[in-house]
Amino acid sequence: MKKIKIKSMQVIIPFLIALCLFSCSKRPDIDALLITGQNNHKWQGSNVVIKSILENTGIFKVDVAQSPGQGRDMSKFIIDFSPYNLVILDYNGDEWPDETKKNFVSFVETGGGVVVYHAANNAFPGWKEYNEITGLGGWDKRDENSGPYVYVKDGEVVRDDSQGRGGSHGPQHEFVVETFNPDHPIMKGLPDKWLHVKDELYSQLRGPGKNMEILATAYADEKYKGTGRNEPILLTVRYGQGRIFHTVIGHAGGKEMFYPAMECAGFITTLQRGAEWAATGKVTQKVPEGLPTDTETVRWEYYEKMDMDIIRARISDYEVGKTNNCFIALKDMFKENIDDPEKIEEYHNLILDILQSRKASKEGKKILMKDFSWMANESYIPVYKDLSADEDLKNEALYALEMLD
Ligand code: ZN
Repeated sequence: MKKIKIKSMQVIIPFLIALCLFSCSKRPDIDALLITGQNNHKWQGSNVVIKSILENTGIFKVDVAQSPGQGRDMSKFIIDFSPYNLVILDYNGDEWPDETKKNFVSFVETGGGVVVYHAANNAFPGWKEYNEITGLGGWDKRDENSGPYVYVKDGEVVRDDSQGRGGSHGPQHEFVVETFNPDHPIMKGLPDKWLHVKDELYSQLRGPGKNMEILATAYADEKYKGTGRNEPILLTVRYGQGRIFHTVIGHAGGKEMFYPAMECAGFITTLQRGAEWAATGKVTQKVPEGLPTDTETVRWEYYEKMDMDIIRARISDYEVGKTNNCFIALKDMFKENIDDPEKIEEYHNLILDILQSRKASKEGKKILMKDFSWMANESYIPVYKDLSADEDLKNEALYALEMLD
């Protein structure tokens, strides 16, 4: 008996290893389309951030559809949603052509997933189906005709038909996001309460609110010109066969391409989980460690928690079009630790390892030679020389060698 057991283990273990290698390197299986191009926010930056937040999970491939600019001819902005499982709305602007509207509604009706992000709930106040899909919205002349205010009071969802404008927020501030529905797959395992990075607290949202579930709320403190209510922050909507995840946080504004509210680990994690749920009805992602607590915010300044393993993996898999945060993070680490020889050596070893790895992407190697040769030393010379024999890498390798002279 013993022998047989050992034999079968000998078969099973390599099989398990092969299975793990296969599943670890599997291709993304959620095809997503992000719609942007007009917004009263910095869509030029937010779309890049959302794409990298989702693609960092390894399960999404995100294409971007950019509309013509505000006031331009929209008639050719026709979108075919059929290749996608998920649509992310980062758009607040001119009306889409009827065909695109019709395609979008039928995409959702027949089971497509949608993520509504921040000011996307300001868009299209007069488009009935859009407002049923987003559930709640604000601004752009929304009022009692748009639907009730929806908020939480004493643990109960209130639908309030009173008259008044839809949508408001006071000055930006940190606020606690509190789970309202802990059993929902998006929320399972997340902290009950987490302190969000300084952001706008959308309040007085109103809309049809049909087939809607509130997942998390935040108390809009009167101290910050708030309503004194628990306002919905994360919610889901069902429309036909479709699932919608709606996050009202993550304001991207200001002069620089720098969006602290989108760096919040809570924003990032709920966006990743909500997007997967909208696309598939399930959440397979593990809850990451180090999420914010009810008293401390957590910012992932590269939109993910960077460490040496992540940097190595991201550079090794780098392709044009993917996020370049791994290179920025590595450069920042060099600068921050310039007086720490041990750390600097660790970074050099990482670069040399990747440059010599057969598996690492050539695009990643090119950037390591173009942008990091200024910090190289003579130990790089034989490596650059080897790489200069590769036709695809020759130019960058020769450039790097020249920099060393
Ligand atoms: Zn905003």
